[in-house]
Amino acid sequence: MTEIDVVANLAQVRARIEAAALGSGRDPREITLVAVSKTHGAAPIRASIAAGNRVFGENRVQEAEDKWPVLKAEFPGVRLHLIGPLQSNKVKRAVALFDTIETVDRPKLARALACEMARAGRRPACFIEVNTGEEAQKSGVRPAEIDAFVRECRETYDLPVEGLMCIPPADEEPSLHFGLLAEMARRNGLKALSMGMSVDYEIAIAFGATHVRIGTAIFGPRPTFRGAEK
Ligand SMILES: *Cc1c(COP(=O)(O)O)cnc(C)c1O
Repeated sequence: MTEIDVVANLAQVRARIEAAALGSGRDPREITLVAVSKTHGAAPIRASIAAGNRVFGENRVQEAEDKWPVLKAEFPGVRLHLIGPLQSNKVKRAVALFDTIETVDRPKLARALACEMARAGRRPACFIEVNTGEEAQKSGVRPAEIDAFVRECRETYDLPVEGLMCIPPADEEPSLHFGLLAEMARRNGLKALSMGMSVDYEIAIAFGATHVRIGTAIFGPRPTFRGAEK
């Protein structure tokens, strides 16, 4: 097994984010690096915190609960984003642990989040996930429904909606999807755009990403045994 140098990887990703931002006339400080630590243990996460990273992404509530309460208590500045699908029966736990929920994608979930936020007195920021590729197996709101769903989240549920998120189809040119997401955010008055992963974050930044979700380029490949990946 090769040793992964998280600190060096992080420095390289940061440098590339900065170059991509400057290259498209943007301020690099507009871009938040969400380090995706799913499947990785506390040691590499600690290394990245020591190197100054403060925002992390996890795709499963249970796994995040196993790893993060201790780390969050130790490093109060750490912020956690949920980037995987959220089942309604895990809303209470998600609202308790996460600072941003990037995967709001249906009215039932919006309603459950609103109820739990009111009950718990804690309001994690919400992003709405858009299924820009209209893929049958993928979660996310369909592009034709996004304007109505944003309105519903704001007006009916009073959710703190900050932005949109997408995961483009693996076999398509991502820029088409990034451009589409940026346009949907613009016309709905949403500032945050979570788009871009290890293979395409520089393109996403050129299209206006404010949050890039990067796992492999920082922490190395994830184990591929069954059940380890999302
Ligand atoms: C795993 C994951 C990522 C990170 O992917 P990499 O290719 O490892 O950078 C980003 N976004 C979501 C939603 C993910 O599930």
